[in-house]
Amino acid sequence: MDSVSQKYQLFADNVQQLRQRGMGRQNAHILVSANTTVSLKGEWLEAFWCDRCQKTEWYYVKKTGERAYHLSLAPSRLWQQVAGTIDPRGNPSVGEFTRKQSRRLNYNSSKSFRFYG
Ligand SMILES: [Zn+2]
Repeated sequence: MDSVSQKYQLFADNVQQLRQRGMGRQNAHILVSANTTVSLKGEWLEAFWCDRCQKTEWYYVKKTGERAYHLSLAPSRLWQQVAGTIDPRGNPSVGEFTRKQSRRLNYNSSKSFRFYG
């Protein structure tokens, strides 16, 4: 498949998302209570052109090895974990989200970012 977008990095902002990725309970609670947004390394959203459907499809991509990736169709809730302010599908709920997100990003522009994964 051909990529037709940039990679949209995913971020975790709650304890459960961090714990699912192997972070210890205490560390996860500390980061979240400090209002730290944690970048999920090796996980992103990316659009690909699908020849069979003749349309662009958004995938959740997870790097699982040096050259191995796991792709699954991106559920819309994942857009809540994306940094950025795009509305690629013209979906009203996504648009609503991006407006909120851009406000949140502006509001939190000085908060710290940590990398994990
Ligand atoms: Zn398809």
